[in-house]
Amino acid sequence: MTRSRTTSAARRLMLVHAHPDDETLITGGTIAAACDAGIEVLVVTCTLGEEGEIIGDELAGLAAQHADQLGGYRYWELQRALSALEAPESRGRVRGVFLGGAGRWRDSGMAGTDGSRNPRAFINAPLVDTASALAALIQDFQPHVVTTYDPNGTYGHPDHIRVHEVTHRAVELAAASARGWDVPRLYWSVIGHQAFQENAARLSGVPADWVREPGGGLGLFPDEQITTRIDVRDQRDRKAAALQCHATQIMVDLPNRAFALSNWVAQPIMDEEHFVLVRTTGHPVPDGQAAHGLFAGPGPT
Ligand SMILES: [Zn+2]
Repeated sequence: MTRSRTTSAARRLMLVHAHPDDETLITGGTIAAACDAGIEVLVVTCTLGEEGEIIGDELAGLAAQHADQLGGYRYWELQRALSALEAPESRGRVRGVFLGGAGRWRDSGMAGTDGSRNPRAFINAPLVDTASALAALIQDFQPHVVTTYDPNGTYGHPDHIRVHEVTHRAVELAAASARGWDVPRLYWSVIGHQAFQENAARLSGVPADWVREPGGGLGLFPDEQITTRIDVRDQRDRKAAALQCHATQIMVDLPNRAFALSNWVAQPIMDEEHFVLVRTTGHPVPDGQAAHGLFAGPGPT
């Protein structure tokens, strides 16, 4: 990947995710909002999501225990989702890459599964290998903002926890390198508990065969630790369209602005997305940073 010199003054946002669909589920509105604000966006995905459960019968044979073709299919789901997040007038501002190239490291599945024991699994790769690969991307793209997961990996998936570890190590490696890049702002992307509960009010109207679990949701984060809230109401339609692109993983109920994963548990498409600022440096951020909350504001508390 080579970055054009003509874009060197632009603001740049890098989001590091574990599997295709995480970028939209957790940060889709932020990607779209950043795109609208003229920010260059690079989504780094660490695996192809080969171990995911598949919704519906038509594509069930792609699963890891059958044809093992899900990863290649989800590659294209991700490309379509990233395109859906862009506004028509800003085509090309959002790009996606896979860490180490597509298929370099494999989805590890949940703890204790066969997938977690695969020698190619992301969690089984030496941390220095995966972190060095990400550090190289950081040095090349020179992001002003990087996002990763909290130490619990949002909801405890081993690959998400590893993404947290890899990103923190990569940011250190990139800063220490002779030709390095000291990332000005590093965030954890999280889902705040209170906002989730408020958004969950619309779930009463979801399809009858979806499961409603009051208080449920992917790893809800303590509200008092959130430093940055991105209002994504204007981008919600594009986020919903991007969620629909991940059809092997996600069902979408547009009227109720809700979705469900393969466990059929109803969840709201959030009005805002949440971040925790965990690292700042004195490295300058280009002018105009107030146009997007991740680039502005005070340092960590
Ligand atoms: Zn994931």
